[in-house]
Amino acid sequence: MRELQDRFGRSFPYLRLSITDACNFKCEYCLPNGYHPDGKPRFMTLDEIRRVLHAFSTVGMRKVRITGGEPTLRKDFEEVLQLAASTPGVDTIATTTNGYRLAEHARAWHQAGLSQVNVSVDSLDPANFQRITGDSRFDLVMKGIDAALNEGYRKVKINVVLLKGLNGGELPLFLDYIKHQPVDLRFIELMETGLHHDYFQAHHLPGTVIQAQLERQGWQLDPRGPDDGPALNYSHPDYAGRIGLIMPYAKDFCASCNRLRVSAIGKLHLCLFTEAGIELRDLLGSDDQQEELIARLHAALGQKHQTHYLHEGDAGATPHLASIGG
Ligand code: SAM
Repeated sequence: MRELQDRFGRSFPYLRLSITDACNFKCEYCLPNGYHPDGKPRFMTLDEIRRVLHAFSTVGMRKVRITGGEPTLRKDFEEVLQLAASTPGVDTIATTTNGYRLAEHARAWHQAGLSQVNVSVDSLDPANFQRITGDSRFDLVMKGIDAALNEGYRKVKINVVLLKGLNGGELPLFLDYIKHQPVDLRFIELMETGLHHDYFQAHHLPGTVIQAQLERQGWQLDPRGPDDGPALNYSHPDYAGRIGLIMPYAKDFCASCNRLRVSAIGKLHLCLFTEAGIELRDLLGSDDQQEELIARLHAALGQKHQTHYLHEGDAGATPHLASIGG
């Protein structure tokens, strides 16, 4: 079967699959007032998720990230992992989570097939963590990361959204942490979303600020692997952990785009920004529709733009990232 490719020669081995919009944290830059259901259609069922996974694997998906909202809020999260693990051709199953259930479930999820986990930790200072995320369970989240490390996951990553005036000065704390912990830190530049223009203006911190500090301290840029996405990865001989910088406003960020997104209500998003999503749900009701679904995926790729328009101040159709799985 022909693999998915766009007009610019990019292929898409990586799917970010959202399974819920709901979240129990209140991150200031995402859902500051918490999650409120908005009457949208219900989230995809296990059967629908299985059909999405199967269709994407047929056209070249090898890695899937289960995200949300908070994916682990779903009671059938473990079954979603098992479905992903039993999808032919998929060799990496990742999730992005706020980590509140990781300490308890790290083993079961690993056994269900989860190979790597990204935990969002925007501050290593418990009070600051609470300020940013609206949640006091810092210790529980950090225990989850320890549990994942003990369990032997292929990769354990920490996502940190860079926030001027809030965590921009915490680089030394994070570096101390990865001195002996084999964790990949991902510093993610705050992206402007439809609902958060003022917050963005107040707290956007360019990743280049952190990049300059790292380079001054002897961190070296790793060579890019063939399947690497847009992150710039750094390592240092004195540290067990590594650092990735995700700078969506940087020139050429989109050139290495290798991912597509499906939202929890079954819409295909060709980019995190810039479009409202292509309906797939009408083709997820039966196994007999796989061929038609795959044809729609191929047709959709013809519409993928070369780049997002964030750098031109266009925050696109995405109100916040919880709505399509950041
Ligand atoms: N609930 C999960 C979590 O907490 O990681 C997964 C969903 S969350 C939307 C996925 C990632 O997107 C998190 O690391 C979060 O910090 C990041 N994120 C959300 N809004 C963002 C924004 N405006 N700019 C950059 N990253 C953002």
